[in-house]
Amino acid sequence: MNPAAPAIETPVDDVLNQVPPLTNYNLFLTDGTLLAAVERSGAGWAREQVTELGRLLGTEEVQRWGFDANENTPVLHTHDRFGNRRDEVVFHPSWHNLMRTAIANRVHILPWVEKRKGAHVARAALMMLTSQNEGGHNCPISMTFSGVATLRSEPDLAQQWEPRIFSSEYDPRFAPAPEKKGVLLGMGMTEKQGGSDVRANTTRAERLGRSNEYLITGHKWFCSAPMCDAFLILAQAPKGLSCFLLPRWTPTGERNHFYIQRLKNKMGNRSNASAEVEFAQAWAQLVGEEGRGVSTIIEMVNHTRLDCAIGSAALMRQAVVQAMHHARHRRAFGKLLIDQPLMRNVLADLLIESEAATLLMVRLASAFDAREADPGERAFARITAAIAKYWLCKRACMQVGEALECLGGNGFVEESIMPRLYREAPLNSIWEGSGNVICLDILRALAKEPLALEVLMHELRQNRGADARLNKFVQALETQLSQTTRDPNSEAQARNLAESLALALQANLMVRHSSPAMAEAFLLSRLNGEHGYTFGTLPASVDLGSILSSNH
Ligand SMILES: Cc1cc2nc3c(=O)[nH]c(=O)nc-3n(C[C@H](O)[C@H](O)[C@H](O)COP(=O)(O)OP(=O)(O)OC[C@H]3O[C@@H](n4cnc5c(N)ncnc54)[C@H](O)[C@@H]3O)c2cc1C
Repeated sequence: MNPAAPAIETPVDDVLNQVPPLTNYNLFLTDGTLLAAVERSGAGWAREQVTELGRLLGTEEVQRWGFDANENTPVLHTHDRFGNRRDEVVFHPSWHNLMRTAIANRVHILPWVEKRKGAHVARAALMMLTSQNEGGHNCPISMTFSGVATLRSEPDLAQQWEPRIFSSEYDPRFAPAPEKKGVLLGMGMTEKQGGSDVRANTTRAERLGRSNEYLITGHKWFCSAPMCDAFLILAQAPKGLSCFLLPRWTPTGERNHFYIQRLKNKMGNRSNASAEVEFAQAWAQLVGEEGRGVSTIIEMVNHTRLDCAIGSAALMRQAVVQAMHHARHRRAFGKLLIDQPLMRNVLADLLIESEAATLLMVRLASAFDAREADPGERAFARITAAIAKYWLCKRACMQVGEALECLGGNGFVEESIMPRLYREAPLNSIWEGSGNVICLDILRALAKEPLALEVLMHELRQNRGADARLNKFVQALETQLSQTTRDPNSEAQARNLAESLALALQANLMVRHSSPAMAEAFLLSRLNGEHGYTFGTLPASVDLGSILSSNH
């Protein structure tokens, strides 16, 4: 023993300056932006349900489900021990708990069964909460919700399947649909040779006699949640690419010829299974007209785009909630991080991005609510689904990355939720139209659907006079729009246009619904160029204190 060594006053396993876990909080009641938006959009009738789900998802037990389901990833069993095909994926019990919770809350069906004003917004609020807790299980939830929109183009099929889709009981058994208490839908469009360019699909459909029944042969390169009960898929029929409903079991109670080849080893979304599948004369039924597969499945795609916007807003919200929590408890250089001037700039900037995302996502959901009765809102929903999907998914990747850094090294370890949020973020941008494809779709919609442009501009002009910077930005956007829509070589500028449209929509919403400090900061930084290339570069005039103290 060295007599000169100083006495150790603090045992090495004393934990100092670490942050308490963020648990037992209500995800909904602590989100002032979402709370107000739900009320404003006529979805106040769902407040009790959303509040209860917000409480449940904030409990330690339910937070644990999200971790367990991602740490214990799904396992594919192609064959049984005797060599018979099994084609089943086995999930951890926590996955089933997450699914059961979402389905009991009718996140997979709410607007289809609840014919009340604001049903889409109510569902968006519910999904905003489930997605903060765990992203992967929202994939089958979203596909089931969206699939109904396409299934309805074939009323007989819809009538047959809807009663079981509309159940709020989760039934994970691998069994023929008529034997189950509740069923789920998936989607199969992407093939090896291309996902964006689905017209290049090689999967073939042969008609059986004169019926609407077909045999499907081919493959799908990405087919998520393969334990769903039926899939809306695309295949080449004699009259061209067509949409089909392909169930896992045939009507005679046999396993359909749907073979799961392997599961993808994904960087994120690990709780969910995404499979490569093959169909060898699998039995399916035509949905919509033969040869009009893309326009039939597009309704499903538009609804999943809404969900990508919801999912991305949720990732941003959860990321900034975690960052704020950490900064409120962690000290560095003699102060709490939340009191360090530069950290205040970063956090305020992250909060602004999250609020702008929530407002745009709710506005989009409310257009889905109004679209049946109002052709203008239908056109608005169509174009804004693409704009919001593009922008929120892109911003989530950056915003979540910056929020992660607020936690320092603790944000980089798997025991925190941050790596999971970070890995989930790019996925929303890839599926249902990757970034470029979405921007080209915006151009196409503007060119082909004059009403879309009209309603967008109507929305943006509503606030003319509210702020000179907004006014100037919208005027410049009008010039950009008329140039881009008239220029046959405008494709290369599609991202520029999509970005301006999204910012104008968000600014418009911020001016109407955010606190003056938030709205001012958004206008200065996002519209007026007073911002750098990273978060945390808000100009000195921004009232950081007011932004940081609001909404939590
Ligand atoms: C985890 C996960 C789960 C998935 N689950 C499903 C599922 O359940 N069902 C399903 O059908 N699919 C699923 N997908 C597939 C997904 O929808 C496709 O990956 C996506 O549509 C892109 O297709 P691709 O991968 O073939 O890329 P490509 O089509 O090859 O595109 C590659 C890149 O090129 C860009 N690009 C394409 N065309 C153009 C153009 N004309 N101009 C400029 N740029 C262009 C795209 O934006 C993209 O960035 C899943 C994907 C992932 C990652």
